[in-house]
Amino acid sequence: MVTKRVVSVMGSTGSIGVSTLDVIGRHRDRYDVYALAAYASVDTMVLQCLSFSPRFAVMVDEAAATALREQLPAELGTEVLQGEQGLMQVASADGVDMVMAAIVGAAGLASTLAAARAGKTLLLANKESLVMGGHLLMQAVRQSGARLLPIDSEHNAIFQCMPVDVDATPRHEGVSKVLLTASGGPFRRWSTEQMAAATPDEACAHPNWSMGRKISVDSASLMNKGLEFIEACWIFDLAPQQVEVVVHPQSIVHSMVQYLDGSVLAQLGNPDMRTAIAYGLGWPERLTSGVAALDLIAMSRLDFEAPDEARFPCLRLARESVAAGGTAMAVCNAANEIAVDAFLSEKIRFTDIPAVIEQTLERVVFVEPDSVAVVEAADAEARACAAGVLANLQ
Ligand code: NDP
Repeated sequence: MVTKRVVSVMGSTGSIGVSTLDVIGRHRDRYDVYALAAYASVDTMVLQCLSFSPRFAVMVDEAAATALREQLPAELGTEVLQGEQGLMQVASADGVDMVMAAIVGAAGLASTLAAARAGKTLLLANKESLVMGGHLLMQAVRQSGARLLPIDSEHNAIFQCMPVDVDATPRHEGVSKVLLTASGGPFRRWSTEQMAAATPDEACAHPNWSMGRKISVDSASLMNKGLEFIEACWIFDLAPQQVEVVVHPQSIVHSMVQYLDGSVLAQLGNPDMRTAIAYGLGWPERLTSGVAALDLIAMSRLDFEAPDEARFPCLRLARESVAAGGTAMAVCNAANEIAVDAFLSEKIRFTDIPAVIEQTLERVVFVEPDSVAVVEAADAEARACAAGVLANLQ
């Protein structure tokens, strides 16, 4: 008989959360859902609770928590918690084996760190927490004996192509480089002038992946690849020059690892996050995920090209943040979140996003990110600064 693993799904109502529950739903004999957590999407949360009967459901928004309490039948036995405290509680509770960290943005940092500090198996989709507090998060994983399994498809691919210890620590001896693939997003062939007139819906119309709106805009600006560049350095303990971005428009090769002897190992698959999620949930075993088998003959060709940093400056800004060190990466991330939000609300143009980030990076002083308080202060300062930059643009 298989021992059931107990899972908390943070950000359950989002794109990754829904895919996670889809995979769990295929393996109900292996997983028990301890908690589901989201911000305010009550209707989706009600349906998820009815389907998975979690012990806890967390809504960060107070009115949403009240509405959820009213709508869940008492006999379900699901207790509704409200606020950030609820997130921390279900991410670190005794009895929880695995935490899917799939809240979007900086809002995911505290609960992701709580899970790492509590020694959980951390399925990490929330790349922003690693970009902001990479040092703190990796230290927490090491000290508590937590297991970090990357869910971002590229990092999941790299993880699959690298030797790993029994505790899931990747070993990079013999690795010369990681080749991080990027689809190039919906604007891969657009001129800067065309991008200046792009609408939020055009930016969110990713050619291969179906994702939440924030990460979709990040994919269009290549900031997503910039954040992933930082993420790869932290997870695999690589120097920045060991991570190379390669544009691969078909999104079939999810990333590659190049070895000193000239070998390159790649992980391929259809662009569907359930593959990476199933890998994380099942590791070291393989689970069915509902993803169709890859048909290479139908695909017929795989293309690769260099990224164009002149049209997509966000990639350069992310690299410069790594080089600057300290809280620069947290500042870069916060400025990006403010800029993407303003673009999605149609307050600025798509091409203003890198301008907001660059000007924020120029104005904020970076310090050593040696505590959560320092990282949160840098995040808050960068948000205030980016808001000021935005005001001047409008
Ligand atoms: P979505 O926007 O689809 O979902 C975000 C989730 O986070 C929702 O459940 C949302 O709740 C919740 N949330 C938002 N704000 C808060 C908050 N302040 N406190 C608590 N919960 C909150 O995002 P995605 O699923 O696309 O992305 C999630 C993370 O995974 C991101 O970090 C992204 O970069 C990463 N990722 C996503 C991929 C994808 O394919 N989508 C691929 C690789 C990584 P509510 O619905 O109530 O607002």
